[in-house]
Amino acid sequence: MSESPITIDAIINGEMYKTEKHEPRENPTRPEEIVGYAPVNTVEETKKAIDVASDTFTTWRESSIDDRVERMRAAIQKIKDQTPEIAKLLSREHGKALYDAEGEIGVSLMWMEFACDNVKEVVKNEVQEHDTGKTIIARDAIGVVAAITPWNYPLSLSTIKIAPALLAGNTMVLKPSPLAPLAVSKVAAIIANEFPPGVLNMVHGEADVGVELTSNPKIAKIAFTGGTETAKHIMKAAADTIKHMTLELGGNDAAIILKDFDVNDEKLMTRLVISNFLTTGQICMIAKRIYVDKSIYEKFVEKYIEAANKWIRVGDPFDKNVTVGPVNNKKQADYVQELVEDAQSKGAEVIKLGEILDQDIFEEGYFLQPTVVLGAAQHDRVVVEEQFGPTVPILTFENDEEAIKLANDSIYGLTSSVWGDEEHAIEVAQHIQAGTTMINTAAIQGLDVRFPFGGVKQSGMGREYGKEGLLAYTDTHVINIPKDGDLPYIPE
Ligand code: NAD
Repeated sequence: MSESPITIDAIINGEMYKTEKHEPRENPTRPEEIVGYAPVNTVEETKKAIDVASDTFTTWRESSIDDRVERMRAAIQKIKDQTPEIAKLLSREHGKALYDAEGEIGVSLMWMEFACDNVKEVVKNEVQEHDTGKTIIARDAIGVVAAITPWNYPLSLSTIKIAPALLAGNTMVLKPSPLAPLAVSKVAAIIANEFPPGVLNMVHGEADVGVELTSNPKIAKIAFTGGTETAKHIMKAAADTIKHMTLELGGNDAAIILKDFDVNDEKLMTRLVISNFLTTGQICMIAKRIYVDKSIYEKFVEKYIEAANKWIRVGDPFDKNVTVGPVNNKKQADYVQELVEDAQSKGAEVIKLGEILDQDIFEEGYFLQPTVVLGAAQHDRVVVEEQFGPTVPILTFENDEEAIKLANDSIYGLTSSVWGDEEHAIEVAQHIQAGTTMINTAAIQGLDVRFPFGGVKQSGMGREYGKEGLLAYTDTHVINIPKDGDLPYIPE
């Protein structure tokens, strides 16, 4: 049953800011149904939000960490209380299955709680008494943070930035993706209400708003999650005013299946399938290329397809039996299809996976039946490009050296995984160029918010999560108090 569309507003200086123009956001399961309307803010409105955040910073940076933590904990409780409604809204605007939307809220809360529990210990002044005097190593807030986030995990990729930024004494202007702007606006409003006006602001829109956020001189730091190509524009826009940056970008994560991987371990095989198809494959850290030791390839493929056919059930995200929903938008669905057809035209075999539970909905929405691509070459587009959708190629390797070479043969280096005997897998893992390598698990299943997350090569710079993710919103400020007023290395 369809619900009436909601309308959301920007948040500027603690108030819902009415905008002239709104864009509809459709339900990717039933594109005729409008889930809600999000504002299209102007550059002038974006400037206003930045000015407010900048003015507020002068007082907010002097607030106590205890006060900030108390406010954030109050927001956490409200998000917990409202989880069922937020999850439903997220599922409807995004297309991810309801259990998956609930999972995203769970990860967001886990991180916000970690940030509250640890900020005092991590973001603190360190005082060192030494032979020539005393040094205070202070962790200062940076200023106004522009947070720009993508559509695939709109809540967790926003709260991953909001929590550490605000707890460290920064103010923020957040801009979510127009492709999933509604649920994140609810969450941002809950958080903004717990803080003084102007600490957390939110604007919506397209690239022009993004350009203002990344070039405005009052922005001190950019925290961006999104595509590598967009990040290149952002770096150029930010160059004139030398901004701090955390960039979490695209990935083309390899899963290496070693010869000692137990193909008969159904639980492990299902874990691999989930690592490929959770959130309909639209995750930066999903395993996007599988490399299998040639000696077990045939048996592996047979058992992989068996496990995939059991786990993948495509249909309405609100159906409790559904594990895979539609693709978030038509452009993305067409792109994934294009990569699969390209491989097929070059001789690869494409095998459809799983069961379609509701054929009518499947035809109505932006659905793709998940596929596995066999026999593609290392340089084929489906292997080289980030598919970001429900398909995965399986390739072979002769020995571990070749597996490592193939895995590293990418402009990306976000996460990766190695599957097989633990010791053997750890040995191989140490040669892979990635921000994270997981053993016998992959993607969100192996994500741990207590440890830093981020990419190498063109997958980004800086880290989110863990203690590094808290320190990323601080500047180091050294205060030296020499005993005799002189520093020791200045000659007499
Ligand atoms: P995108 O780069 O198209 O958009 C991301 C955000 O940037 C959106 O809010 C968009 O409106 C904004 N934007 C667009 N042009 C801009 C500009 N010129 N200046 C400033 N902002 C601009 O990405 P997407 O399609 O929303 O998300 C998918 C991509 O995100 C994939 O490549 C995926 O791998 C990546 N991603 C990375 C991580 C990670 O942690 N590394 C996590 C999730 C997604």
